[in-house]
Amino acid sequence: MSEVYYLDSHCHLFSEEFQEDFDEVIERSRKKGVVFLNIMCTEEEEAYRAMDFSETDRDHISVSYGIFPTDAEDAEKRWGELEKIAEDPRCTCIGEIGLDYYWEKDPAMHDLQKEVFARQIELARKLNKPFCVHSRDAIQDTYDLMKAHHWKGLMHSFSGSAEMGREFVKLGYYLSLGGPVTFKNARHAANVAREMDVNFLLTETDSPYMAPVPVRGKRNEPSYIPHIVKKIAELRQMKEEILAAVLVENWRRFRSLQ
Ligand SMILES: [Zn+2]
Repeated sequence: MSEVYYLDSHCHLFSEEFQEDFDEVIERSRKKGVVFLNIMCTEEEEAYRAMDFSETDRDHISVSYGIFPTDAEDAEKRWGELEKIAEDPRCTCIGEIGLDYYWEKDPAMHDLQKEVFARQIELARKLNKPFCVHSRDAIQDTYDLMKAHHWKGLMHSFSGSAEMGREFVKLGYYLSLGGPVTFKNARHAANVAREMDVNFLLTETDSPYMAPVPVRGKRNEPSYIPHIVKKIAELRQMKEEILAAVLVENWRRFRSLQ
């Protein structure tokens, strides 16, 4: 067992890709010390399975559920079930919610995405739980909305500039970095990793997507987190173990809503 503990703030462990070898994936991540897991769920049924699993280790395993931006048109139909899951004490975070103008080009749908995003932030506030944001090709609108509906949240796989990152941090939001920070062409991610206040950084895999170098292109899994921490530590000229401990501390603070 590793002496250093790591955080994966965003992994889709109950997606189809892990159905075959779920136990092995968990075992490998434990061996590497990646014990803090935030399991992201985009479907109701997934959320219930993840919540049941979280009971095996409530101190380390969190579950997030929310209506994904490109599913905004189903929000009305799914709202009752969303509230029910969100109120469950085993669901610790609302997400991933946000705006995605990359997959959705219709401006009328962007308005609907904003409405559903805002409504879910307000639900998080009502329940005193943090939220996790997906933002793609929509960073300014995401920022404006998170400023207007200010609450405790994190930006998953933050891909904005360091300048933009600082604006989010000023509002108390956390920035989570994943595989792209290890990619040569992801200039923004490296700058964010280097320049942000370390107390507002988190790490994630976004498993099964976005595997970091040197396993880029493979199915991603939480046990690859040390590659990401190693890269951020290099960029910041910090010791890897110290950075890992800071990231875990950040996550505890984020989760406890202090
Ligand atoms: Zn995700």
